[in-house]
Amino acid sequence: MNITEIRAQFPALEAKVYGKPLVYLDNAATAQRPLSVQDCWQKSVSEANANIHRAVHKLAVDATDAYESTRDAVRAYLNASAREEIVFTSGATQGINLVAYSFGEAFIHEGDEIIVSAAEHHSNLVPWQLLSQRKKAVLKVLDIDENGALSPDRLEKLISERTKIVAICHISNVLGLINPVRELVQVCHKNGVPVLVDGAQGIVHCGVDVQDLDCDFYAFSGHKVYAATGTGVLYGKKKWLEALPPFLCGGEMIHSVSFRETTFAPLPQKFEAGTVNTAGAIALGAAIEYYNRIGFPAMMQREAALTDYLIAGMQQVPHVRIIGSPHAAHHHGIVTFTLDGVHPHDISSIMSDNGVAIRAGHHCAQPLHAYLGINATS
Ligand code: PMP
Repeated sequence: MNITEIRAQFPALEAKVYGKPLVYLDNAATAQRPLSVQDCWQKSVSEANANIHRAVHKLAVDATDAYESTRDAVRAYLNASAREEIVFTSGATQGINLVAYSFGEAFIHEGDEIIVSAAEHHSNLVPWQLLSQRKKAVLKVLDIDENGALSPDRLEKLISERTKIVAICHISNVLGLINPVRELVQVCHKNGVPVLVDGAQGIVHCGVDVQDLDCDFYAFSGHKVYAATGTGVLYGKKKWLEALPPFLCGGEMIHSVSFRETTFAPLPQKFEAGTVNTAGAIALGAAIEYYNRIGFPAMMQREAALTDYLIAGMQQVPHVRIIGSPHAAHHHGIVTFTLDGVHPHDISSIMSDNGVAIRAGHHCAQPLHAYLGINATS
């Protein structure tokens, strides 16, 4: 891996902040984009802009082909068994909302139970909370162990015959630990319960194989894997996507419409209503190409070395508390901390004055912070 060459692919990293070279450590919030992704996006908006799927003119056909071949690239990247299982969304948040709404409409009734974990981002908590309020269902919370992991045994104890779905993160954006998703899914399936995985962080730091995980839904965002904001993917097993009613309704997702009734397009169009973010989705294809070119194992090796270095350094600093596991091997690109007596926002400001970009606050995981007994972290 040639780090100088790789850095040169990311013009954003050339920036100076208050005269200091930018050190960008806020990738859990959003990643910078390599030139290949920017070029692909630019080419798509300037040379192949047309409304896909609707016209027979050349520009529209080319744009449609590029968009649909990105779907094939995503399918291959996730090892999904069919291209119909890949739905383009505006991000992890939309993918999770889609499932919470559509699954909820079809399968959640009064008194049913939905399980989320204590480590969830608001995006994988609030949609389920609102659903349970709407349907008078019960939202149960799976707690985390001392390292912050989700335990299959604890999950099994929480599941009852009223449990209808489990929604958990692959990696929490605060704790950085990879959850044993395959084992958690096994426990759920043994009890006939489907599982949604919030893969917003997992897709970045795990080699995701949805058939191996056997999860029923997997949602992620493009902007965390070097692609554009406002793009993302929801993977869903065909049997589930076929069983769910549509989420957003309008053009593209229909088969036929009359004043009396509408029939819906087959998958995946059923869940892609309206004019989609074509250029953004196509650029996601370029991001996948970028991942494949650098090679995921090499990226993970580099990430592990940097995490070791970071945690060893932080452990030298008095009054620093690393959140979650103290072991570097448990942190996959994400390390959150507090420093006694200093507010995380002050730490972030001081670091910003020195060119270092880190996030501070509750990281959209307020209940997890409350659970850990802290208000905010860096
Ligand atoms: N889940 C997790 C674990 C995340 O880290 C994020 C983004 N911080 C989201 C969901 C939501 O992603 P987006 O805002 O891109 O939809």
